[in-house]
Amino acid sequence: MKLLEDRILKDGNVLGEDILKVDSFLTHQVDFELMQAIGQVLSHVYREAGITKVVTIEASGIAPAVYTAQVLNVPMIFAKKHKNITMTEGILSADVYSFTKQVTSTVSIASHFLSADDKVLIVDDFLANGQAAKGLLEIIGQAGACVAGIGIVIEKSFQDGRQLLEEAGVSVTSLARIKEFKDGQIVFAEADA
Ligand code: 5GP
Repeated sequence: MKLLEDRILKDGNVLGEDILKVDSFLTHQVDFELMQAIGQVLSHVYREAGITKVVTIEASGIAPAVYTAQVLNVPMIFAKKHKNITMTEGILSADVYSFTKQVTSTVSIASHFLSADDKVLIVDDFLANGQAAKGLLEIIGQAGACVAGIGIVIEKSFQDGRQLLEEAGVSVTSLARIKEFKDGQIVFAEADA
């Protein structure tokens, strides 16, 4: 997605060896026009897949997920990282190791929001080692629902996430794929859409 790649080059900052900071348009401040464009592209890829729910993980997956869900005209559900007292009924949960925070947390979705009739599109902001997406696959599997695919805003192709997910039999659509950070510069691989 050219618009996204251009924005990453303009506003993204490489931190250390393997982290991209994009807090001015995706992970902290959100550019809704760009998110709308992302929603259009991801929903177009999965328009014939019979998606009934879009699922993401809080917090930074919510913006791209909600705009994708809007175009597909289905609900968006985000997995919560902290249980709260309003989650009284059954919950589906999985442990997720966070690449950026380097801690494991339990993420949960109330079981009544997903059923065996659902066909889910997972959307997330980044794909690194695939742990967040793997946790969501586990939760969706607990509900007996099926996953039609995973839509990613920024994939770091030099990490193992895509391989892990494809080995699990899930198709991945990444709108920007970063091959490497060469001397602090971002080098793209060909994106999926
Ligand atoms: P994974 O679970 O695939 O290893 O990592 C994905 C999650 O880690 C994403 O949901 C994102 O929040 C965070 N993440 C991974 N790599 C980066 C990065 O380079 N920059 C930012 N801002 N977040 C990242």
